[in-house]
Amino acid sequence: MLEEDVDVLIVGARVAGSVLAALLGQDGQQVLVIDRATFPSGTLSTHFFRGEGCVGVLQRLGVLEEVLSFGSPPLVREYNADATDGSSTVDPPQTPGEVGFNLSVRRETLDGVLVERARREPTVEVREATTLQAIVREGDRVTGGVIADGAGTRLIRARLVIGADGHSSRVAKLVDAPIQQEIPPSRAMYYRYIQGLEGPGGKPDGPEFSLGDDELVYVFPSDGGFACVALSLNLDDYRTVRRDADRAFQARVAGHPFIAGRIEKASWCGRLWACGPRPSLVRVPTGPGWALVGDASMYQDPWTGLGMDNAATHATFLAEAVDDILSGTDESVAWADFHRRRDEHAISGFLETADLALDLNALRSG
Ligand SMILES: Cc1cc2nc3c(=O)[nH]c(=O)nc-3n(C[C@H](O)[C@H](O)[C@H](O)COP(=O)(O)OP(=O)(O)OC[C@H]3O[C@@H](n4cnc5c(N)ncnc54)[C@H](O)[C@@H]3O)c2cc1C
Repeated sequence: MLEEDVDVLIVGARVAGSVLAALLGQDGQQVLVIDRATFPSGTLSTHFFRGEGCVGVLQRLGVLEEVLSFGSPPLVREYNADATDGSSTVDPPQTPGEVGFNLSVRRETLDGVLVERARREPTVEVREATTLQAIVREGDRVTGGVIADGAGTRLIRARLVIGADGHSSRVAKLVDAPIQQEIPPSRAMYYRYIQGLEGPGGKPDGPEFSLGDDELVYVFPSDGGFACVALSLNLDDYRTVRRDADRAFQARVAGHPFIAGRIEKASWCGRLWACGPRPSLVRVPTGPGWALVGDASMYQDPWTGLGMDNAATHATFLAEAVDDILSGTDESVAWADFHRRRDEHAISGFLETADLALDLNALRSG
């Protein structure tokens, strides 16, 4: 089998993997990123994220202008409506950070920009259509991986192997990453794209959130003139809706008066996307020779839309830990620091997401 040596093998090239690779490349580390997907391509995800999280990381990587050139409007406010009494408010954006706005960018667009950003670092190579098949160990320590593409398999020897490979992470399974916390699913989500949707005040300038009876309808104005319209449901309603999902999705959205009138004048496009119930999961994110980042390390119900902010932010934390290890810091010290920073940043949001997911009517009292 052909063999190669790198400092870091990253499995997964979307938000977590490409951000990490770009940051490590800036510090001169030899990085191989693999993804079984090819880019640009979408993935099952709506894509609202915040100034303090993913938008700030795009700015730090120097690609915010490029991302904005695809037409996503800066989301400088947000619209909150209550479909049960017809009320609505205009509110400031959630945690807009120093950039001062939030964004929604289709994953095909965003992940494509991030992959190319990683590739601009001379010491980073991104290989598409390449799958991790196995992990290689010496004793307890992970020392590389076996990867496969159309041409065959290769052994990649790496000082560190990183799983940025999403919520059903193969790396996590192969290294037997311990589960830190698991919460059973309580919700599901549908979404579809629409074109020509006016904002509440004309030009779209904020996400819209309309709360029904334990259901939430979202509008995320995005790139290319598209808006993403999403619906979060409890599992009883999901079981009903999925019997005739296309019709039921539109009927449910039509039950939200703040949004419905404008939707009637716009054009639905593409298919309806469905995300059924999935458990929320926090994994212990490190071990000898390996680490996890993004959804591989922490997956929560998407109703709060925290995953991309977490993936981008935790990739910045992990880049610092990896740099420290590669320049001589004791691995267990650097890993403990990364684990602590991840948890301090995201565990409260994870728990709040799971708690409120049991009944979104609780949002009215909080
Ligand atoms: C329905 C839904 C709606 C969402 N809405 C939002 C939202 O509005 N805002 C938000 O912030 N978050 C949202 N999220 C969460 C968000 O999608 C994730 O948090 C985010 O995609 C995590 O990025 P990642 O880079 O960790 O993993 P992913 O985006 O899952 O990327 C993992 C990559 O790893 C690759 N891979 C997997 N296994 C292998 C293998 N063995 N070999 C090679 N490659 C492999 C995959 O091909 C994939 O490209 C939503 C999620 C869902 C399901």
